[in-house]
Order: sequence, then C-alpha cells, then structure tokens
Amino acid sequence: MLDIIHVKGNTYCIDTGMTYLPFYKINETDIILLDSGWAKGERDSLDELLDANNFHVSAIINSHSHTDHAGNNAYFKEKYNCIIAMDSFAAHICSSITHLKQYYSGYSLSGVKAHYGNLVFDTDIIIRDEQKSVYINGIKFGIMQTPGHTPGHICITTPDNVAYLGDALITRDVMNGTKLPYAYILSQDLQSKTSLLNLSCKKYIIAHRGITDDIHGLVNENIEFYKGRATKVLNVIARPMTLEDIMRTIVCAWSIHIQSTYKYKVVERMLRFYLEYLLETGAVSLIVENGFLKYVQSTKKNQQ
Ligand SMILES: [Zn+2]
Repeated sequence: MLDIIHVKGNTYCIDTGMTYLPFYKINETDIILLDSGWAKGERDSLDELLDANNFHVSAIINSHSHTDHAGNNAYFKEKYNCIIAMDSFAAHICSSITHLKQYYSGYSLSGVKAHYGNLVFDTDIIIRDEQKSVYINGIKFGIMQTPGHTPGHICITTPDNVAYLGDALITRDVMNGTKLPYAYILSQDLQSKTSLLNLSCKKYIIAHRGITDDIHGLVNENIEFYKGRATKVLNVIARPMTLEDIMRTIVCAWSIHIQSTYKYKVVERMLRFYLEYLLETGAVSLIVENGFLKYVQSTKKNQQ
C-alpha cells in the first residue's frame, strides 16, 4: 500500500514511489487531487489507496498535462465524476487526439494515440493565463503561472499556504539522475524558476519527491544545472552538425541507452529544446550545407 504524507493542515501527499501526489482534504471522504498520476505504473496502487481510505476524488487541479501528472484524469473523472481544472493550453491539447498531436508533433497520429491516448478528457474549469487563483468546491487555491516546462505549467497553493510546484523545480536526487531534464521552452522555464523566489509559503512540494520549507538554494541550483546541460550540448557542436550528428555524439558520450523508437523520440525531442535555447541565446546559429540543416557555434561576430 502507498504511503500518505501529512504536509500541513488539510494538505497531504501520496508517495507513489515516483512522485509526491498532493491532495487537499475537504472533509473525511472528499479530496481534491493536485495532479492524478501515471496511468501505467500508478493507477492500480492509487485505486487501492483511495478505496482503502474511503476517499472520493471531487476534483483534480493539474500542474500540467504530462502523462505522469494527468494520466489518470480521464479514469478518475469516469470513476468519481470529478471536476477537472487545468491551464488553457493543457485543456486545449487534452481535448482531442488531433490537438494532442499539435504538442507531440514528432509522432504520427497513431503514435500519439498509442502513447498519449489516455490524456483525452473534458476540462471543466479552464485556468486562464492571467488568473491568480481558482475556486474549486468553494475552496480558494492560489495559482502562479510558471510556463516553460510546458507552455501552460502552473504552481498551485493550497489554503494551508503549501505550494505544489509540479515540475517547475526538480530535486537534487533528480538532478543527479538526469542527463537531459525536460524543458519545452528552456528560456521561459529559467525565468519561471527565478519567479518561484517570489513565493512565500510554509511548505513546498516538488512533484518528483521533494518536500521542503525553503527553495532558495534549490532554485539557484536548478538554474545552474539546466544552463550547465545547455552548455554541455553546446560544447558537443565542434563543427557544423545536423541534429542527428549531435544526437549520435551525445548518446555515445553520455551513455544514454536508447532501445526503442519511443525513447529515441523522447531524447530527440528534449535535445531539440536545448538547441532551440542555444539558438535563442545566440550561442549557436543555423546554416544550410550541401542541402542539410546544420548547427554551428556562433562566432562572437555572429552574436552581435
Ligand atoms: Zn512534466
């Protein structure tokens, strides 16, 4: 059976082994989940825990729509008839398979169905970009826009002044085990990480298993870590290289194990985000050589 951790007041989280899944207790039975977990690896154990505690999920507020955060939205909505609240971007892409394909554009439609099909559901409450709070079952939750990890990522603060940071911040353990952390728009993600310093909460929950009273040191370490990974990618580009050249070099040099087309696409997608960041910061430029698109390190002159 999964463990429940009491964080503060009515705010708790479920330790799934992979994530801390927060929930807010409305009364003895009704709860509001902040994210719904991963369908493939977590649904059965979550079901067992919720049933054993006689919990009824009244609502889900999602930090973002990744499969390990919104994977059970459709399932719980069916089981409990619960309300789903999401940012407008996530609500849009999760409204149909073809909308999901916009986001997962590197996949065929059947590929999107196979890997992300469980992310299709109706969102009841759309959290707009400028919104600073949302009322769910008459309870006010604070909202902070933290785009970057996904275009509409949000952090959610419970009435106990506990902030759920989703994937806007990662723990030191995750940093130690990650070669290329995910950031859809890294430049925005770095700004969002800095903006977390404006929060003044009693406790902070990080999705991939962190609970802390103070995030100052961790915010700075995160920023250095992500920027450091971008620099490592930059240093690989010793000559004009195609995306495949860079990918091949990194996979070998960093011992990244790729044994499926799915994993290849995941790594390729993440690498693209870092290259886009390097393009945005002017560290690399694009050229066409013999008909192929290649990345080159920018000269000082190019950067001016
Ligand atoms: Zn995520």
